[in-house]
Amino acid sequence: MSTAVRAAIAIGSNLGDRAAHVERALEELRALPRTRVRAVSAWIETSPVGGPRGQDPYWNGAAIVDTELGPRELLEHLLAIEARAGRVRVAGVRDGPRTLDLDLVVHGDSIVDEPGLTLPHPRAEERAFVLEPLAEIAPDLRFPRSNRSVLEALTALRGSGGKRRRGGSGGSSAIASLATPAEAGAWCAAERARGLRIGFVPTMGALHEGHLELARRAARENDAAVVSVFVNPLQFDDKSDFERYPRHFAGDVELLDSADCAMAFTGTLAGFFPGELEPDGSLSRLRLVDPGPCAEGLEGTFRDGHFAGVATIVDRLFRVVNAHVAYFGEKDFQQSLVVKDLARRRGSPPIVVCPTSRENSGLARSSRNERLAPKDRAEAASIHRALVAAQGAWQSGERRAAELGAAMRAVLEPSALQIEYATARDPEAWTAEEPAAPLVRAQALVAARIGGVRLIDNLRLDGPAPDIRRKSERFP
Ligand code: AMP
Repeated sequence: MSTAVRAAIAIGSNLGDRAAHVERALEELRALPRTRVRAVSAWIETSPVGGPRGQDPYWNGAAIVDTELGPRELLEHLLAIEARAGRVRVAGVRDGPRTLDLDLVVHGDSIVDEPGLTLPHPRAEERAFVLEPLAEIAPDLRFPRSNRSVLEALTALRGSGGKRRRGGSGGSSAIASLATPAEAGAWCAAERARGLRIGFVPTMGALHEGHLELARRAARENDAAVVSVFVNPLQFDDKSDFERYPRHFAGDVELLDSADCAMAFTGTLAGFFPGELEPDGSLSRLRLVDPGPCAEGLEGTFRDGHFAGVATIVDRLFRVVNAHVAYFGEKDFQQSLVVKDLARRRGSPPIVVCPTSRENSGLARSSRNERLAPKDRAEAASIHRALVAAQGAWQSGERRAAELGAAMRAVLEPSALQIEYATARDPEAWTAEEPAAPLVRAQALVAARIGGVRLIDNLRLDGPAPDIRRKSERFP
C-alpha cells in the first residue's frame, strides 16, 4: 500500500447491543477494500454529548487505518456500514441515539470543507470521547488544521476541566489512603461530581507487578485510578490460606502512589457490610450474591463457595466506588467471566480484562508466590510450560479438551506439583464439565499445589480472545 494514507475513525454506539454493533463495525472496517486496520483502541463508556435528553451512554472507541481510499470514498463506506447496522437518521434531530456512529476524524493531511464532509472532523479536538481512545493508539497523530497532535489536543482539553490522577482537593501530590469503605465512597462520589472519570482495580493487596500493570492502565485511561486492598474472607474456603495470605497495606499504598493512582482504600467486613453482619461477625448466606453459571466447575468445584464470596464483595466494591470502568486480570480467567457476568447483570461497570503478567520463567505473578520456597518456585514454572505444551498441541490440530489436558499432564506429572486440574474450556461458552465435542476456541486452565501453596494459571490456545472489552491492539 505505497499510496496509503493514515486515517482515524471514531466509533460509537448507544442503541441496542452496543458491544455487538461496535465489534461488527470493526469487522466491516477490516473487510474494506485497499484498507488495513492498524490499531484499535479499548472501548470506553461515555455520557452522550448534545442531542435529546435521557439517551443511554455510549460505547466509544477508535481505529487507525492505512487506506488507499480517498476521503469521500472512505466516508461512503462508513455511511454504508452505519446503514447496515440499522442506523436511522431522524430529520431535524441531531446527535440522537444511534446503533452505530462512525466519524472520519482525520484522513492524512486532507483539509476538506464540502457539504457532508469536513476534515479534520470539526468537533474532534473538543471531544474527550474521541481523543481518549485515539490517544491510546495514536497519540502522535496530527490534526492538519491546528497542527496539534492527539495528545496535545487531549492535554489542552483536560487542562481546564482538570484531569486529576491524585487525591485530595487541589492536586496534592500524594495518593489518598483511606481506611474505610464509607470514606472511599464519599471520595469517589466527590470525584464523580467534579465530572472526573474513575477507573477501579479491586485487589487483595501484597501487590506485585501484575497488579501494578492494572493500576497503571487504570491511571492512564481515566482521570482517577482507585484501588481497593482487601483480603476478602468470604472467598476463602480454607481458613489457614486466609490467615497466611500476605498483607502489607502501607507498602502497597506506596507502590500505588508510584503507579500514579489517586486513591487506595481498605476496610473490614463490618465496614463493607455495616449493620448487615450476624452477631458472630459473619455474613449470612442469604446476603451472598449469586455468582452465576460461570462459577460452576474448576475453581467453583475445588473452592467451595469461592465465587459467591468473590461476587458478593465485588458487587459491594462496585457499589462503593461506582466506577466508570473496572480492571481485572486474565490470570484469574474464570473469575473474569464471573465478574463480567455480574457487571452485565448489574448494568455496570464495563470490565476490562488485562493480560497475565509473568515472571521470566513464565510463572504467572501472584501474591501467593511470596510463600514459595526457591526450589518450589522453579518447579512452579512447569505450569506455564504445560500451558505452552497445550498451545503446541492445539497448533498441531488437537481440538479435544481431554487430549489438551493430557498434553499438560505430561509436563506436570514429572514435576513436584500436585495437579488439581489441567483441562480446556471454550472461553466464550463456559461449561462446568470438560467438553466432549471438539473445541472451536480453547482456554487451557491449570490449578496445582506445591509446598502448601495453591497456584492457578491459564492460556488462550487459539490466538487473542475477541473480548468485547477489547484491549487496544496494534497490527503490523
Ligand atoms: P488479587 O489481589 O489476586 O485478588 O488480584 C487482583 C486483580 O489483579 C485481579 O483482577 C487479578 O486477576 C489481577 N491479577 C493478579 N495477578 C495477576 C497477573 N499476574 N497478571 C495480571 N493480572 C493479575
